[in-house]
Amino acid sequence: MKAVLDHIGIAVADLPAALAFYRDALGLDVQPPEEVPSQRVRAHFIPVGGPSLELLEATAPGSVIGKYIEQRGPGVHHITLRVEDIRAALAKLKARGVRLVDEEPRPGAEGALIAFVHPSSTHGVLVELKESGRSGHGSSAASGPDGGAGPAGSSPAPRISRFTLGDLEITSLYDGFLRLDGGSMFGVVPKTLWSSKAEPDDRNRIRLAMRPLLVRGVRTMLIDAGLGDKENDKFHDIYGVERARHLDHALAEAGVAPSEIDIVLATHLHFDHAGGFTVRGADGVIRPRFPRAAYVVRRGEWEDATHLHERNRASYLADNYVPLLQAGVLMLVDDDQVIMPGVKVQRTGGHTMHHQMVWLESGGKRAAYVADLIPTTAHLPDPWIMGFDLYPMDTLAAKKAFVREALARETLILFEHDPVVAAGYLMQDGGKRTLNQTT
Ligand SMILES: [Zn+2]
Ligand SMILES: [Zn+2]
Repeated sequence: MKAVLDHIGIAVADLPAALAFYRDALGLDVQPPEEVPSQRVRAHFIPVGGPSLELLEATAPGSVIGKYIEQRGPGVHHITLRVEDIRAALAKLKARGVRLVDEEPRPGAEGALIAFVHPSSTHGVLVELKESGRSGHGSSAASGPDGGAGPAGSSPAPRISRFTLGDLEITSLYDGFLRLDGGSMFGVVPKTLWSSKAEPDDRNRIRLAMRPLLVRGVRTMLIDAGLGDKENDKFHDIYGVERARHLDHALAEAGVAPSEIDIVLATHLHFDHAGGFTVRGADGVIRPRFPRAAYVVRRGEWEDATHLHERNRASYLADNYVPLLQAGVLMLVDDDQVIMPGVKVQRTGGHTMHHQMVWLESGGKRAAYVADLIPTTAHLPDPWIMGFDLYPMDTLAAKKAFVREALARETLILFEHDPVVAAGYLMQDGGKRTLNQTT
């Protein structure tokens, strides 16, 4: 059998200190982290010629890597050998009496098949076998002997889209996808109609992107931040979460480090918009994700998100925003106003009482980030309003007013949840409303 060294996994207890060595002192290029939620681990790959190093950071104390560090301290956790045919390799090892952790290969990240060989047969080293056409990245990350599979990641990789608007540079980012009930997404519109626009899966869910917006002007601003990585397997299953590529990858593609974000602006605090505002450290403590940023939230939305009722409770997770208050980085604003030159918030209500959209304007050009007022291009017709909306008649009024505006003066509409389209210009011919896609 031919086996090639793919990567070496290193369990780290103190990520900043590890980065100070590998990235800063050695000058290596550390890639944006990959989440493996099922393992509660974050993997930071470092290309070093052929094989890679993989820094493994526990995101919860009881996780595989957390336990490993607790028992043995930080250090080399596993080595990964890439083989051409993993089933054949396992059969051969088994025939020779080698003890296997996984008798059958199982899926790791990005569709690679993996299996672990027990350290008692490998002279004390945890050996992971991997079958994949790809080398280095996209490995099984930190799937450990007692772990499950990583994300399936079968969908095409999302991309960022850039637009220039006078002095503003706007980038539509991504934080992966989630799935929500199709009926809830279209309210009173019958499935016979909506299912031709958004195909439901076998659990009647439709696929939605999460597209936070990066705005670079006099300051660097992030509007919304997607789902983040604090949720568990059950949550990921219910909402069909796909985050093999997520906001960190998108920010890296856009050339912005999390520490460069000055302002994080919330359209509202639902978990698919505010989840990425905070992050859970290896110590289990939740902190702001963007260390230098002021987080701007509309006061009414904050009040609602901190005084929940039966109808909105499922949409808000306090861990996404309460730690901002505790960290002293929360800035509450009361009215429609300019947040930085060229960027103005406007309350739409409807979806939540204080849901706001964002107008972007510079050099005579205009764009609008409409958030959950018009979550996807399928929601452009007036009555296509989400069942989730708390005040659907207010959504209707706000949408009509917005559409009038967008038709009166050229406006690039940026969609937050459309699985395919990041932005486009609205056209209306008689009663027919269409979108001139830019992406
Ligand atoms: Zn929402
Ligand atoms: Zn949403």
